[in-house]
Amino acid sequence: MRVYNFSAGPATMPLPVLEQARSEMTDWHGSGMSVMEMSHRSPEFVGIAAAAEARMRSLLSVPDDYAVLFLQGGATGQFSAVPLNLASPDRHAAYLNTGSWSAKAIEEGRKYVDVRVLADEKDSRYADVPTEGSFEVAPDAAYLHHTLNETIGGVEFPYVPEAGTVPVVTDASSTILSRTMDVSRYGVVYAGAQKNLGPSGLCVVIVRRDLLGHARPDVPAALDWAAMDKADSMLNTPPTLAWYLVGLVLEWVEEQGGVSAMGERNRAKADLLYGTIDRSDFYSNPVAPRARSWMNVPFLVPDPALEKPFVAAAAEAGLSGLAGHRSVGGMRASIYNAMPIEGVQALVDFMTDFEQQNG
Ligand code: PMP
Repeated sequence: MRVYNFSAGPATMPLPVLEQARSEMTDWHGSGMSVMEMSHRSPEFVGIAAAAEARMRSLLSVPDDYAVLFLQGGATGQFSAVPLNLASPDRHAAYLNTGSWSAKAIEEGRKYVDVRVLADEKDSRYADVPTEGSFEVAPDAAYLHHTLNETIGGVEFPYVPEAGTVPVVTDASSTILSRTMDVSRYGVVYAGAQKNLGPSGLCVVIVRRDLLGHARPDVPAALDWAAMDKADSMLNTPPTLAWYLVGLVLEWVEEQGGVSAMGERNRAKADLLYGTIDRSDFYSNPVAPRARSWMNVPFLVPDPALEKPFVAAAAEAGLSGLAGHRSVGGMRASIYNAMPIEGVQALVDFMTDFEQQNG
């Protein structure tokens, strides 16, 4: 029996993808072996890898002058890779702080570059994004970094920050492929796979080619975008099984009608859940409506003592993974692409019942 899994990542995967992977597990397309047993240099795997890249390019309309890399080290690895590839030690880099993941990127960035935080939402308790135009990026900044969607706080940028000629770098880990995005507005888009793309172990990095080749000489090879690009992301052994599964997920997104169709569904799912929260005096979500995430919806009940019973009763009802992040408590429903609207409907029905019993 499958539950509705609202976990923030690793997260629910599309069932048809899991079923296809199962059917191909011991013998991929007559090769007589599973994908995880194949050489990454074999024509079979090189084909799997290239098909995944082509699908990513087509789904996000990635312009031709961007490289698409499939790397290891997670999004956390990119917190270091971004300064190491884009900023010599004498440069400074601009960051926007909108929550836990921005703060982690900033902390990591400080190891390598003079970090200047242009906007800090700590005072809003990470419940908003900076107003458009409220910060100015110095033209000599190496880049502007922001977190497109804060997975813990449930805060998402509704706009692309303006930085003039300075490249905008975005951590799109928990929002990539959930709605349309104009890749050409960014210098770098990176995303850990374990939310909307597939299993953990892979981080997709989309980088404008003119930004390649400026890495510091001490950049580790595994984080060196130009070296990885030259080697088709196979400078070392890639996580082949994860790459293959990401390819299957991308194929599934195509079958669903692509990113704009996903966006329509995701908007409907988010509206259903936020609507339920906003209509109730029992549940609350602190995030400014314009900055509310379509993917991660944190919510509170009036008495924190009800949180554990809520999560336990929900799990009993087949609704899993609803505890908030350990750093903030409360509840959180992650409603990534693979979560059907039926799952969100089941959640709001449960919430309504729980409120009637405990409100
Ligand atoms: N950025 C964001 C927005 C995230 O949600 C996460 C993981 N939850 C990370 C970075 C860190 O990713 P990883 O664990 O793949 O390093």
